[in-house]
This record gives sequence, C-alpha cells and structure tokens, in this order.
Amino acid sequence: MQTASFWEKQNGDKVKCFLCPHNCVIPAGKHGICKVRVNDNGALFSSIYGETTGVGLDPIEKKPLYHFFPGSQILSLGTNGCNLSCTFCQNWQISQTGNSGRHNLSSDGAVRLALQESAIGIAYTYNEPFIWFEYVLETAKKAKERGLRNVLVTNGFVNPEPLSELLPYIDAMNIDLKSIKEGFYRQTCNGSLAPVKKTIETAQNHCHIELTNLLVTGKNDSEKDLTELTKYVSTLGKDIPLHFSRYFPLYKETEPETPAATLKKAAEIAGSKLNYVYLGNLETEESSTCCPKCRSELIHRKGFSLKTYNLSGSNCFNCGCNIYGSFK
Ligand code: SF4
Repeated sequence: MQTASFWEKQNGDKVKCFLCPHNCVIPAGKHGICKVRVNDNGALFSSIYGETTGVGLDPIEKKPLYHFFPGSQILSLGTNGCNLSCTFCQNWQISQTGNSGRHNLSSDGAVRLALQESAIGIAYTYNEPFIWFEYVLETAKKAKERGLRNVLVTNGFVNPEPLSELLPYIDAMNIDLKSIKEGFYRQTCNGSLAPVKKTIETAQNHCHIELTNLLVTGKNDSEKDLTELTKYVSTLGKDIPLHFSRYFPLYKETEPETPAATLKKAAEIAGSKLNYVYLGNLETEESSTCCPKCRSELIHRKGFSLKTYNLSGSNCFNCGCNIYGSFK
C-alpha cells in the first residue's frame, strides 16, 4: 500500500480524506466510500497503487474522444473502486469492488508499454481515475517527460485541490455529465452535480474536454432533461463535443435499454445548439464530424474506425473553418 495524498488526522485513530467531495471520515481498519483508500493504524493509504484490473490498447474513439488525435491508439489502464455508486453502472464488476483480479504495473512499466506500442499516450479509464490519484499523478508526470499524452475518463467528482495538482499533466478528459438534475446524482449515484460542473468548468480552461451523457431509460432522458443539459453545455461553449450513450440494464438497474428513438431525440435537441453531438453504444454505429460552417463531412467513422478523414491540420478542407480539438 502507498501512503495517500489529501488527508488529515482526526480524533483518535480516525482520518479524513479530502480527495473527493465525500470527504470521508474513516475509522481505523476501514475504507472510504470508494473502497480503495484505507485507514491503516491512523494513516490513509491507497490499496490500488500500481495495481491494474485491465490494460489494453484502445482506439481513442473508444474513450470516447472524437476530436483528440482521431484514429490513434492509446494505452488504457484501469483498476478497482469508484467514489460514486450509480445503480446503472456499466462497469460495476471492477468499480463497485475493492479488489478483483489485479496485476501489478509500475508507473515506469506503463510508460514503457505505451512507448513500445506506439500509443499516443496513456488513458486512465475503466474505473474512476481520481481515486487512483497517487499512481495516476506519478505515471502522468513520467509519461509527459517522454512525450506521451495523458487522458482521464472520469466522473468529475473530485475536490478542486487534487484536480489542480493533476491538470498540468493532463491533455484531454472525457467527463461524464450523468444528468443535469441534482436529484439524479443524489438518488441514483450517491453523488452531487455541483462538483462535477466545477470540474468541467475548470478542466475546459486547461485541456481538451468532451462530455458523455449515458441515457438511462426513464431516469434522465426526458425532453426537459435533455434541453436543460444542452443549455448548460452550450453556455460553456457550443464546440464542446457531447456524446449520448446507450445504457444497458446492468448492476442494480432493470429499466430496458435506451431506445434508439430516445438517442435520436437527444441528438436532435442537442444538435440545435451544439456543433458536435455523437451517439454511442448503438449496434450499427456510424458517425460523422461535419464542419459547423459549411457542413462538409470531415470525418466518417464506422464503429471505432475512421473511414474518411478530410481535415487539413485543424481546419475544414473546404472552407478552412477551425475545428475544435487536437488533430494530426
Ligand atoms: S476518495 Fe474515497 S475515501 Fe476519499 S473522500 Fe472520496 S470516497 Fe472517501
């Protein structure tokens, strides 16, 4: 176990962790809500430092990031635990346990692997990366020194101080915006919306961001929800890519999977205000990035593969309009 960051001693052997907005007060021998930060004899430790449950080379489109070096591969790492407990979690086997089939991978080993595989960098994904803070920070610093990029796929439920410490090493983030309703975060995820909004607003000033909204049938998919969520994103910037993702009934949620019609409706509502809206987790998944000015098709994707690519640097090949993101 590795000594954790962001905690302080409390009365007796208790410790208070302030890595995320839960600010857990943890008695000796117990762990916090995330299950992976442990009070051992009055000090806080990370039980997942250098331990992975999954390592793979993924297309960057799978994160999903559609405007960040499209068509490239990224080394993807995840481990156990999460600081939210969404009833619909699509990754619950690793996120909702403190320990399941982990393998050791040092920060040097991760960087070496990314270089060997000619990946553009490392994505901290599959579970919530902020609760893996110590390992992610160390690996991200080393990766940056070797010219690699760092990507976080996160729920955004983190306190401002750890976010600020990590951001200088992060190049891109996909942040879940699970709903625009505080009640949804409280009742369905054991979290809250305000810290997530704060993370989005801070991150957008430091790195490339894209947002994902998983549409859970009957829970966060009403026309009102979609209109308000779109309005919020558009106030941040109409160029921020927004991915609506199809949900499947997993973990504790039994509502039927998101109907294709709901996803199309979401795309229609968001598309009226935002320049880049995408749908994910559909069987015949084809998508296009079009120039917001002249509507020329710039990228056509089938699944996670690029079928056409018509950008000239970061600009539309036809009218020269600058396209939000980082391109080859
Ligand atoms: S990171 Fe874990 S232990 Fe720390 S406050 Fe959040 S849930 Fe609690």
